[in-house]
Parts: sequence; structure tokens; C-alpha cells
Amino acid sequence: MRLVLLGPPGSGKGTQAARLSAALGVPRISTGDILRRNVAQGTELGKKAKAFMESGKLVPDELVIAMTAERLKEPDAQAGFILDGFPRTIPQADALAKLTALDAVVNLFLEPEELVKRSAGRRVCPKCETVYHIVTNPPRKAGVCDKCGTALVTRPDDREEVVRTRIDTYERQTAPLVRYYKERRLLREVYASGLIDEIALRVQEALKA
Ligand code: AMP
Repeated sequence: MRLVLLGPPGSGKGTQAARLSAALGVPRISTGDILRRNVAQGTELGKKAKAFMESGKLVPDELVIAMTAERLKEPDAQAGFILDGFPRTIPQADALAKLTALDAVVNLFLEPEELVKRSAGRRVCPKCETVYHIVTNPPRKAGVCDKCGTALVTRPDDREEVVRTRIDTYERQTAPLVRYYKERRLLREVYASGLIDEIALRVQEALKA
């Protein structure tokens, strides 16, 4: 299965992508995670991407497209993938269409005020990249990753003012992809409010349809 998950920051894309990845046995490819690793390791790509990411803007298309094209060539992506956070612009979607065919695009949608609340409560494991929420998806022991025991952190771009910029960036640059994929008959709309399990069920149903 070759899937794209679309949705604004805080819509639960990463969480649902991880669920789908486990259920379908195909890798979750998060361009945000790959970029954050590059920033942490101080690579050339990381140095170029850092300021864009910290201010809630998009990293330039040519960098992200080249990075994703490389990732999609890896052996584990040959039987399918869940793309989480790519494409985010029309040029990225056009580039993706040249690289591979898609089976479906799931769009997670939610009220704007919910988005800010969700991002503010998000905590991530800097080591294994597992994502938690202090209210809706807390770790067993506060502040510590269930999977690897590392202390959880808040992403620098989850500060409220940066979240608002990210939502605005989404509206301007990424939301046009909803129409793009609707026109190509790939879009499945899923309402992303509720419990993680409920939303996961809605996603499964949408993919069967
Ligand atoms: P995410 O973890 O998906 O929220 O991504 C975090 C940040 O990484 C975004 O706010 C962007 O700065 C950058 N980023 C991730 N994916 C892309 C993409 N497809 N195009 C441009 N920038 C991206």
C-alpha cells in the first residue's frame, strides 16, 4: 500500500501514520523526523533546514524532494510506505507523482483551535521518535518514553506562536493539495477529533471504501 497522510500540524498525522505502518507492515516515512535527525547530526542538509523548521516555515522544495526520493529508493519502501508530512506543496506532489503511483491519500481534518491545543500538549522521544500527548496519550511514567526510557522533550516548533505560523503555512501551501488529490480521485477524508483508536478505525474504514 502506497499512502500519503495529509493534515495540518496537530491533526494526529504522525500517530495515525505509526498505527498504519504497524498494521500494514510498510514503513512510515516522516520527512519531519528525517529533517530533525539531520539537524541533530549537523549535516549539510540539517544546517540548511534548521532555520526554516524553527520558524514554522517549509524547507525548500528541492531539498525535501531530493531527500524523499532517496528515502523511497530504500529496500524497505519497495512494497509500500506511509508518507507522513510529504508532499506539502504542489511541486512536491508533482515530483512524487513522477517517482511512484499512490493508492490513496488520507486527509485528517480538525477544527483550528483543537490543533493548537494538541500541539501544545505534544511530547516526543528524542531517541526513538515516539510521540505522546500529556492528556490524550500520556506515557506510563510522566516525562519518560515507554519504549526506550529516554526523557521526553517538547519540540521547539510546538511553541504556540510557531504552531500558529505552521498552521498558516499549512493553509497557504499545503491545503491546496486536498483539491489536487480530490481531482485525481485519491482523496479519503477523515474527521480527526476523538480518541486515537476511534480515528484509527475511521482511517481503516476510509481505506476500505
Ligand atoms: P513535521 O514533523 O511533519 O511537523 O515537520 C516539521 C518541520 O519540518 C516542518 O514545519 C517543516 O519546516 C519541515 N518539513 C517537514 N516535511 C516537509 C516538507 N515535505 N516540505 C517542507 N518542509 C518540511
